Amino acid sequence: MPALSAIRGFKDILPGEASLWRLVEEKARDVVGRFDFVELRPPVIERTELFRRSIGQSTDIVEKEMYTLEDRGGDLITLRPEATAGMVRALIEHNLHEGGRATRLFCLGPMFRYERPQKGRLRQFHQLDVEIFSDPGPLADAEIIVLLYTFLSELGLPDLSIVMNSLGCPSCRPSFRESLVAFLSARRDRLCPDCQRRLAQNPLRILDCKSESCQEEVKGAPTFSAFWCCACQDHFQAVRSALGELGLPFRLDDKLVRGLDYYTRTTFEVRSGDLGAQSAVAGGGRYDGLCRELGGPDIPGIGFAAGLERLIILLSGQPPRPKGGPDYYVAILCPEALGPAFGLVQRLRLRGLSVAADWEPGGLKSRLKRADKAMAAKAVMIGPDELAAGQATVRDLSSKEQTRLPLDDPAAY
Ligand SMILES: [Zn+2]
Ligand SMILES: [Zn+2]
Repeated sequence: MPALSAIRGFKDILPGEASLWRLVEEKARDVVGRFDFVELRPPVIERTELFRRSIGQSTDIVEKEMYTLEDRGGDLITLRPEATAGMVRALIEHNLHEGGRATRLFCLGPMFRYERPQKGRLRQFHQLDVEIFSDPGPLADAEIIVLLYTFLSELGLPDLSIVMNSLGCPSCRPSFRESLVAFLSARRDRLCPDCQRRLAQNPLRILDCKSESCQEEVKGAPTFSAFWCCACQDHFQAVRSALGELGLPFRLDDKLVRGLDYYTRTTFEVRSGDLGAQSAVAGGGRYDGLCRELGGPDIPGIGFAAGLERLIILLSGQPPRPKGGPDYYVAILCPEALGPAFGLVQRLRLRGLSVAADWEPGGLKSRLKRADKAMAAKAVMIGPDELAAGQATVRDLSSKEQTRLPLDDPAAY
């Protein structure tokens, strides 16, 4: 019978890579903690309707990329393709926004999209998702951008830059959209088939179409900035001033739009120089209309998602960081030492020490080799002499110094 392999687009994160993953995840938790965010862990499966309503019926995600199935009760359920919808659903369901303060939440975990797998893009991928609810002001926008920038720069990503745009609001966006549709309709024949379809359903997305002919056609298109209402102008100006205050490198790009329908005003990406054409490592924006869209109260929101796979690729190109081995390797040198060694290992682990061992007796030389391979700081050797004295020989593997310590007193280690 042939051995089974993982599903296409789904990847094992092997022990050799997991340390880098942990480093990224720990840095994420560290930074969001310093920025006063708390964790929300929504389930990875939600009703299909949630994503249809939040992401929008006519987006690529909902049309082509969702993992949707009918459960045994006949309900349509979907593996989450992104985190925001579930966060907003939970916010409304549990009234997390009550209390008069902004609600600051993050979520870290896997998302699922049926896309063509390629480097850095998998069907199960992982995101850090950070959201501020109930704060409509521009400083919330600036703070979330600063958080993302801090996270990426503390990870050590090179050449970071922030790209921003404002997508306007329900009072000024319709006239921009109208003028854009008029401009593009005159050029319909020269747009790619996807964009011809987008023209009716999601015309803003044509602005960031990757096809060369579309990029050529949108060059002279109307720009958002000419249509911003006064409130949108002031808001965006305040975001830029706050970032300028910190001296962060940002630039404006009036072709920067987001794939999802519910975004309003500030939208942004952070790019890293090393990734070539696919340089965006994370992005997000404001989505003041989403909560109401999902049947909740009128709660403004802003957030971002950072794909961890891309960060891992960028970081794995850098010189490896020294990997720490266990504090102790316990070498069992005779069969009689098995029981006492098993007890000592557990007592040391209870004291918070990391301990490795092989559960079979072996020669001193081969066991010290194992201790070196495990990169342990010290080896604990237990043979007949030690057993007779109720002690273990402890050798510091870098200085080669040896001492004897009692077998039953873990505090001595
Ligand atoms: Zn506006
Ligand atoms: Zn196109």
